[in-house]
Amino acid sequence: MTTTPSVPVVMALAGHDPTGGAGIQADIESILSMGCHPVSVITTITVQDTADVIGIAPLDAELIVQQARAVLEDMPVAAIKIGMIGSVEGVQAIHTLLTDYPDLPVVLDPVLASGAGTALATEEMVDAINSLLLPFTTLLTPNSPEARVLAQGCDTLDACAMFLLEQGCEYVLITGTHENTPRVHNVLYGNHRRLETYPVDRLPGEYHGSGCTLSSAIAALLAQGIEPASAVHEGLTYTWHSLDRAHRLGMGQCIPNRLFWAGDESEDEDPADDDTAHF
Ligand code: PLP
Repeated sequence: MTTTPSVPVVMALAGHDPTGGAGIQADIESILSMGCHPVSVITTITVQDTADVIGIAPLDAELIVQQARAVLEDMPVAAIKIGMIGSVEGVQAIHTLLTDYPDLPVVLDPVLASGAGTALATEEMVDAINSLLLPFTTLLTPNSPEARVLAQGCDTLDACAMFLLEQGCEYVLITGTHENTPRVHNVLYGNHRRLETYPVDRLPGEYHGSGCTLSSAIAALLAQGIEPASAVHEGLTYTWHSLDRAHRLGMGQCIPNRLFWAGDESEDEDPADDDTAHF
C-alpha cells in the first residue's frame, strides 16, 4: 500500500439537494476543490428542482448526531461547515455536539430560504440558531436578507452584523448579491467592527448553491490554517469563478461549476489562485 501525506478533513452538516446545485453535494465538491477531504453528515432530505424546493424531510436529530460522532471519533476533523439543519431539534443536537469540540473552526451558513424564497427555517429555528449555534461559530456567512432575519429589527447591515457578533460568533461575512448595487459588496465584520469589504463584479445569472459553495470553501481554507480574512478572500474568488462558469442544466437556477479548474480550457488553474479581473 502506498500512503500519501495527510489531507485536512472537513465535515459538512447539510441538507441533500438532488439537483446537485446546493446542499451537501455543493459542500463535497467545494471542500474537495480546496484540497481537503470532505466528510458529510446529512441533516435533511429535500425534494426540489433547480427552480424551487418542493418538500423537506428533516432527519431525526439523534441520527444527525450519530453520523457526526462516528466520524469525529474516527478521523481528525479540522473544521466544520453547517448548512441547512431542518428542525429545532437538529439545532439543539448540533449545539450539544459542538460543546464537545469547542476548538474546531465552525463556518455556519444560515440557510433560511431557498433561492425562490421558500422558507427552509422557522422563527423558532432562527432563535435557536442565534442562541445555541452562534456562540460556537467562527464565521457566520449570511446573505443580506438572512442577516436581517437573524438580527430581527436592526435597520442597517452594519447594525445586523454587530448584533450577530454580540450573540457570540467571531466573524460575520454578509454577502451582498441581494442588494441593489452595481457591484456586489461582501463585508467582513469582527472585533466589534467592519473589517474589510470585498467588492466583486455582479454576474448576470441566478445560481443554486452559491452560499453553500462559499461557506464550505472557506471552511476548507480554515482547516488548512489560513487566516479568516484571507480564507474569505480566497473563498469568494473561488465561488465567483464557480458561478462565472456555471452550467444551465435545468429550467431554473444555474448550477455552479465548482470543478471549473479541472476543465479542458483551464488545466493549470488553481481554484484559489486567480483573483484577477473582478476584485
Ligand atoms: N441547502 C439546501 C439543501 C438547499 O436546498 C438550499 C437551497 O435551496 C440551500 C442549502 C441554500 O442554497 P444557497 O447556497 O443557494 O443559498
